Amino acid sequence: DRIISSEVNEYDEQFELSLRPSKISQYIGQQKVKDNLTIFIEAAKLRQESLDHVLLYGPPGLGKTTLAAIIANEMDVNIRLTSGPAIERPGDLAAIVSSLQPGDVLFIDEIHRLPRAIEEVLYPAMEDFCLDIVVGKGPEARSIRLDLPPFTLVGATTRAGSLSAPLRDRFGVLLRLEYYDENALTEIVIRSSKLFDVEIDHLAAREIAKRSRGTPRIANRLLKRVRDYAQVIGDGSITLALANQALELLQVDPQGLDHIDHKLMISMIESFRGGPVGLDTLAASIGEERITIEDVYEPYLLQIGFIQRTPRGRVATKIAYEHFGYTYPEQT
Ligand code: ATP
Repeated sequence: DRIISSEVNEYDEQFELSLRPSKISQYIGQQKVKDNLTIFIEAAKLRQESLDHVLLYGPPGLGKTTLAAIIANEMDVNIRLTSGPAIERPGDLAAIVSSLQPGDVLFIDEIHRLPRAIEEVLYPAMEDFCLDIVVGKGPEARSIRLDLPPFTLVGATTRAGSLSAPLRDRFGVLLRLEYYDENALTEIVIRSSKLFDVEIDHLAAREIAKRSRGTPRIANRLLKRVRDYAQVIGDGSITLALANQALELLQVDPQGLDHIDHKLMISMIESFRGGPVGLDTLAASIGEERITIEDVYEPYLLQIGFIQRTPRGRVATKIAYEHFGYTYPEQT
C-alpha cells in the first residue's frame, strides 16, 4: 500500500487509463526507445508487413503497457492484452492467437512468468505463425497444426535476465525503458494535470516529479493525492506550497523516500555501521523478507546511489548518511 510503490494497484487502474498517451508523439521521455520504434514502425508500414516482435523491459510503472498500446495504435491494428501467469495451458494461448486479425499486437505482460510448456508452443507461433497443438490423450493423442495470421508479439518484463535465451532470441526488437529524469516527469505531471483539468504551477509539478522515483505511475498517483489536498485545503489549483504540504502529509520526502526506506537506511547506518551487511541479516533486522528488500525496496535506493552492493553485503553510501543527517565515517 505504499504510495511510492511502482506496482499497479486497484485504485490506479481506472485513472491510469484516462492518462495514457495514445500516440508516440504524446509519449514523454525515453527518446532512444521512441526513435527506434518510429523507424521500425515506419519501415513495417512501408513494407506492409507486421512489425517484428518487440520485447520491452525495465522496472514497473515506466510505461510498457502504454507503449504496447501506442505501437498498436501507430500500426493501426488492434491489441490483445494478457499476461504470462494468465496463460496456463497451450489451449489458452491457442484461443488468443487464433482470434487475432492480421498485423494485430498481442501484448504479454510479465512474459518471464510464462510456463515453460507454453513458451515452447509460442516459438513456432512467433517464427512461422503456426501452432502445433496436441489434442487428446495417450494413444489417441495427435498433433494438429493451426495456421495463424501474422502478428506482433509485444512482451513486457521487469526481469529480462529471467527470460529463457530461446525466447529472448525470438524478439527482433529489444527495448530497455529507463527511469525518467526530472524534466520528463515534470512534463508528465503537467500533461496529466491538464487531463485532470487542474491548474498547477511549474514549480509544484517539478516538486512532484522530484519525489516520483523516476516513475510516471508514481508521479500520476502523487499528483492525484496532491490534487485532492489542493481541492480541500486551497481553491483547487496546485501551488508549490500546497504541493509541499500535501507531500509532507503523505510522508514522501524530497528524494521520494517513505518511512520504509527510512527504516531500512537507518537500520543499516545505526545497527550495522553502514555495512557491509548481508541481505538476510538486514531483512531480519527490519522484519521483512529478503526478497521484498531485493525486489521492492532496494532497486530505487541502488538507483539513487544510497546503497551499494559489494561482495560482502550492502553498504550505505556517503550521500545516504548526509541525507539522513549522520556524519559519514571516513575510511582510514
Ligand atoms: P506495469 O508493467 O507495472 O504495468 P507499465 O510499465 O506497463 O507498468 P504503464 O501502465 O504503461 O506502466 O504506465 C503507468 C502510467 O504512467 C500510465 O497511466 C501512463 O499514463 C503513465 N505513463 C507511462 N509512461 C508515460 C510517458 N512516457 N508519458 C506519459 N505518461 C506515461
